[in-house]
Amino acid sequence: MTLIDGKATAEEYKSVIRQEVAALTARGLRAPHLAVMLIGNNGASETYVANKMKTCRDAGFEATLIRYENTVSEREVLHKINEINHNTEIDGLIVQSPFPNHISPQKINEAIHPAKDVDGFHPVNAGRLQQNKPCYIAATPKGIMQLIERYKIDTQGKHCVIVGRSNIVGMPMSILMSRNAKPGNCTVTVCHSKTVNLAQYTLQADILIAAIGVPEMITASMVKEGAVVIDVGITRVPDTSARNGFRLKGDVKFDEVAPRCSFITPVPGGVGPMTIIGLLQNTLLAAKHAIYN
Ligand code: NDP
Repeated sequence: MTLIDGKATAEEYKSVIRQEVAALTARGLRAPHLAVMLIGNNGASETYVANKMKTCRDAGFEATLIRYENTVSEREVLHKINEINHNTEIDGLIVQSPFPNHISPQKINEAIHPAKDVDGFHPVNAGRLQQNKPCYIAATPKGIMQLIERYKIDTQGKHCVIVGRSNIVGMPMSILMSRNAKPGNCTVTVCHSKTVNLAQYTLQADILIAAIGVPEMITASMVKEGAVVIDVGITRVPDTSARNGFRLKGDVKFDEVAPRCSFITPVPGGVGPMTIIGLLQNTLLAAKHAIYN
């Protein structure tokens, strides 16, 4: 079994990005600039945003945090997004989810100009991905594809089973794994909460991608011997022995599943760090006007 080290892989990619940023600034161009909007004070979101800001700055980017209280109106957030859309000093904008109930995720995602949508959630980028046209690929699936490539995992002709069909992970992942590319060329099955007898499908997976959000749901009896297992899930589970009072758990029961696998990602230290790299790469593309002129 090979443990896929997302943390180490992310460090390698970060150093490549840093060199590219240094080359840009050496030519007198400004560093890529990401704006991150955070609404409310959800503990997990605070941590994700802090990590994104830090990784951006480590790579030589400019990063601006825009904070709002939970009570901010949707109108005010949309107004700010519109302002950033017109700000030529900012290349990319993301709004950290989840949002308060009175703010529509769809309205937020559609308000961000596709050229600044470095999360790749806008329907224009999602549609372009589906049609295999240049676009910002959602950061988590993009990071997973790079892990698969880095570890030289053979995907052609394999059966990839994805559990989860969200717009940010499961759906774009299914497009990337099924498209005619390397990595890619898988036969893909997408499962979800209404799938009957989930194990019947997961047991057929040469490559199993779990993006569910239910801690340790995938057990050894659901995984084929020799499978590649990519665990996207991150859930905070209360743990009084931990310093912060919680522990991060993936969707896969790691200890019992790992011995059956050819490759597996840990949680934490697997997909998470590569998600941030995907975001940085998209922001760099935005700064270079590589997707939209
Ligand atoms: P969503 O809640 O949007 O989607 C979860 C998906 O899992 C849905 O399609 C849902 O089905 C399906 N599902 C839920 N319960 C079951 C079940 N019992 N059996 C089968 N399918 C089920 O979550 P996200 O896609 O946003 O995130 C998934 C996980 O990945 C979360 O833990 C999240 O924190 C983590 N994540 C990690 C990232 C990283 O960088 N590592 C980045 C993004 C997310 P249905 O559609 O029918 O509701």
